[in-house]
Amino acid sequence: MILSADELAGNAAVERAIGEQPVWPRMGADPGRMYRLGIMGGTFDPIHNGHLVTAQQALDDLDLDLVLFMPAGSPAFKQDREVSSPEDRFAMTLLATADNPLFVASRLEIDREGVTYTVDTLEELHRRYPKNVELYFITGADAIIDIISWHNAERIAEIATLVGATRPGYDLAWAKAAIEGSGIPFDVRYLEVPALAISSSYLRNRTHSGQSIRYLTKDSVIGYIQKHGLYREARA
Ligand code: NAP
Repeated sequence: MILSADELAGNAAVERAIGEQPVWPRMGADPGRMYRLGIMGGTFDPIHNGHLVTAQQALDDLDLDLVLFMPAGSPAFKQDREVSSPEDRFAMTLLATADNPLFVASRLEIDREGVTYTVDTLEELHRRYPKNVELYFITGADAIIDIISWHNAERIAEIATLVGATRPGYDLAWAKAAIEGSGIPFDVRYLEVPALAISSSYLRNRTHSGQSIRYLTKDSVIGYIQKHGLYREARA
């Protein structure tokens, strides 16, 4: 079923689309080959074209089979900051990914109670999927820089490859040195994504000041933001 952007911006259509989403997309069925599952972790407040281009580039460059978009429920490093509701961020993620069969929006983190720790997500995926499914956790390189201080970072290093996405020209030298110097054997790949000049804060600020965000994210996401009056108020 193909829905128009206007239809997708309506709640009923979102609910229908959610109903059609596989909670655990099938992977690893052929024991004779390895599968690669990308997990796109982020706050997605809101999701934008930089995120979508990043996921597509990760699919292509790292030969992934599928990318799960994973909006954080209660982001670990944002406990003192105002963030849109998990349901709004999930709905926008669902709308943005609806037209790509290799992108799947996941409720795993927003349905889990308490602070969102990446290790819990990766552990659950590791448990659910067969051994021939490798996990690739994709997020902004700014976030990966702090990986050493993430909850149970050693376990993350054991069960997943990390993918840090940056805009071209971003200086990664000190981040690489910090990660290598941590003594934890992380496998980190870096992706340069020109479209990451776009950021969620840029979209929020433009919306707050009444400027257009057209072509920076999907029309369906813009429709949702307008319909639900998101980002009208200034943020801390
Ligand atoms: P953030 O600090 O808000 O983001 C840092 C930078 O990375 C921003 O420029 C951001 O741009 C960009 N970014 C975020 N997600 C991205 C993605 N998937 N692809 C490309 N760029 C991305 O990061 P965050 O959203 O709070 O956290 C990112 C991920 O790391 C989440 O999955 C979060 O749960 C996880 N994390 C885990 C722990 C932990 O387990 N202790 C701690 C911190 C973060 P935009 O603002 O435009 O997205």
